[in-house]
Amino acid sequence: MAYVISDDCIMCGACAAECPVSAISEGDGKYVIDADTCIECGACAGVCPVGAPSN
Ligand code: SF4
Ligand code: SF4
Repeated sequence: MAYVISDDCIMCGACAAECPVSAISEGDGKYVIDADTCIECGACAGVCPVGAPSN
């Protein structure tokens, strides 16, 4: 199951920079993960300062 970013996102952009498949983009009020592209590596969860990405 692909990772999902919660409303806790503060839009710092750290996750998008770390994602190896560029699945993360800036959305409306938070960053969003493209579920079809995400390979579930967990890198976004590892760098997020507020723990917003989870699966
Ligand atoms: Fe990208 Fe990995 Fe996060 Fe999926 S789990 S969005 S592949 S960094
Ligand atoms: Fe949002 Fe966390 Fe990604 Fe920063 S690292 S943009 S707070 S999900």
